[in-house]
Amino acid sequence: MRIENYWADVHFFIFNFQFSIFNYNMGNAKAFLTINRKEAGYRPVLERISDFTEVEQTLNMEDRMLQASRCMECGVAFCHWSCPLSNLIPEWQDLLYKGKWFEAYRVLNATNNFPEFTGRVCPALCEKSCVLNMQHQPLTIRENEAAITEHAFLEGFIKAYPPKTRTGKKVAIVGSGPAGLAAADMLNRKGHLVTVYEKDEAIGGLLRLGIPDFKLVKGIIDRRLKLLEAEGIIFVTNTEVGKDLPINELLSSFDAVCLTIGAGVPRDLPIEGRNLKGIHFALDFLKQQNRIVAGQTIPASEQISAKGKKVLVIGGGDTGSDCVGTSIRQKAASVTQIEILPQPPVGDNPDTPWPYYPNILKTSSSHEEGVTRRWSLASKRFIGNKGKVTGVEVVRVEWTKDESGRFTMKETGVSEIINADLILLSMGFTQPVHEGLLDDLGVKYDARGNVEALKPNESSVAKVFVAGDVTTGASLVVRALDSGRKAAEAIGKYL
Ligand SMILES: Cc1cc2nc3c(=O)[nH]c(=O)nc-3n(C[C@H](O)[C@H](O)[C@H](O)COP(=O)(O)OP(=O)(O)OC[C@H]3O[C@@H](n4cnc5c(N)ncnc54)[C@H](O)[C@@H]3O)c2cc1C
Repeated sequence: MRIENYWADVHFFIFNFQFSIFNYNMGNAKAFLTINRKEAGYRPVLERISDFTEVEQTLNMEDRMLQASRCMECGVAFCHWSCPLSNLIPEWQDLLYKGKWFEAYRVLNATNNFPEFTGRVCPALCEKSCVLNMQHQPLTIRENEAAITEHAFLEGFIKAYPPKTRTGKKVAIVGSGPAGLAAADMLNRKGHLVTVYEKDEAIGGLLRLGIPDFKLVKGIIDRRLKLLEAEGIIFVTNTEVGKDLPINELLSSFDAVCLTIGAGVPRDLPIEGRNLKGIHFALDFLKQQNRIVAGQTIPASEQISAKGKKVLVIGGGDTGSDCVGTSIRQKAASVTQIEILPQPPVGDNPDTPWPYYPNILKTSSSHEEGVTRRWSLASKRFIGNKGKVTGVEVVRVEWTKDESGRFTMKETGVSEIINADLILLSMGFTQPVHEGLLDDLGVKYDARGNVEALKPNESSVAKVFVAGDVTTGASLVVRALDSGRKAAEAIGKYL
């Protein structure tokens, strides 16, 4: 019997734990008063920067259950409200606290296909809106999620459950990131025959080739893929739809198609000197390292290496932070990360009060490993010598709010040169790649260049659906999973 199909059970749990006042048996109602938040923490810096395996540690089972006991099971669960997947967080905290690991996984997996991914890389919107976060002591929801899932794998609770019957309908998923995988899983459960096409050599999208191993070791993806394959999903790699597989062939061979190709166009910095050698997009750099960890050899002429270099990361976000950690592991001489926006406040930000996601200073494990971070710097021109980059001229900017509360930027005229011989552009992604598949299909785009969903998850082209970054714009794994699940629902109805 398949765990994930047990919606009836899930509703039973909710009823049993949350709504039945006669049978209300929440764990330890006052635990949050006596037990502090305890994070598993990271491996010591000097140890972790000499390898590419995961930096995060785990708590023992007893401590993990105590952490779960801190959940107040709030009547209005803001964690549940802020989770794009609407994970039933108080319910599985209670089950975890009581040591009911199997049941905890069942409830968790009812809304989240791959909690082993989000348990590792989610920025945990839920924790930011946890009521205990008003005291900066939120529940360790993300870590608890990972612990439940790892325990479920260890105990053999998670097995392949192929659908008992097939509908005879065929669905193609184009792109194998989290959105595509979630859509494929949900459609396969309904008995449709699903084929996932991926242009790269391995399945997983940005989970595989974007996010570094030190945040998500790739065996975690392979473990899940084995199950999905055993359940009947067909994976086809090294196949770019629209090039290696003509669109007409795709449309005529499948009853429905779901585009989950991500938002692949990186934001460029077209200033003087952009053509100098040594300036690369962040993702090209990160992809190479992920491939090297996977055992591939990169031809010397194509290698982007930080070894012994003064690295400058332009862009202060999460991808930039991944470049910092990767550069440090590659033994860069120094790493600097700059951002055009001002430094966010530390601790609280009145502009983004609880329960909203706070715009405050984030310090990742990579930042702890040794980087100089600077803010309010706009890049004016790259400087080079004999065709190679040697630095960038930046100017300090000031940010003020206008009457409508919008931030406006003004250059101060104070400029300087930051020396660098490897520059990584990490300023986000603007839109999906239009040329080829999307243009040839003739899908409509929204104002930002993403594929427009006219009805939820339905493109303007008959029987072509969309999910993930290709339609939302570059976002998060948890949102991609949610979008993939919703697309599967729309496709299921259509079929
Ligand atoms: C470096 C980096 C780090 C990140 N870290 C985090 C993090 O820690 N936490 C978090 O929540 N989010 C993170 N994100 C964001 C997150 O990875 C994405 O939001 C998420 O992966 C989007 O999922 P997706 O399925 O829509 O697309 P993607 O994951 O981008 O997958 C799309 C796939 O489609 C394939 N494809 C494209 N065109 C074709 C075609 N024509 N035919 C066949 N295949 C095609 C691509 O090769 C790719 O594999 C990170 C992003 C980056 C770039």
